[in-house]
Amino acid sequence: MAYDQDNIFAKILRGEIPCNKVYEDAYALAFHDINPQAPVHVLVIPKGEYVSFIDFSAKAPADMITGFMRAVGETAKILELESPGYRILANIGQDGGMEVPHLHIHIFGGRRLGPMLAR
Ligand code: AMP
Repeated sequence: MAYDQDNIFAKILRGEIPCNKVYEDAYALAFHDINPQAPVHVLVIPKGEYVSFIDFSAKAPADMITGFMRAVGETAKILELESPGYRILANIGQDGGMEVPHLHIHIFGGRRLGPMLAR
């Protein structure tokens, strides 16, 4: 799937629309979800034009893959989720329910999160 330069997360990365930032480094940006589904709901996005996990894992340079994974972990740490626990999730494509076509990891926490999938 071709990358859409006008998707909302591309605009956030370009600074064209604001976000409530949690963490940023050379590889990733983490910010609070605008419509939280849990007391803590943060998105972590890579700083590159990747739509899906297959796209990212196949095409991203090794330092980007490492940096992005570290950024997800660092964000969970900043949010103080290590001890209570948390969930990470990525929706990909149509069946995954992806709304924004820029790869993103959701971090959920702050309460018992219940079953893994909505029924
Ligand atoms: P997904 O369904 O996995 O593509 O998730 C997209 C997420 O992006 C949803 O949870 C939205 O609430 C969130 N979202 C959409 N626009 C924004 C925005 N401008 N700032 C923060 N989160 C957003």
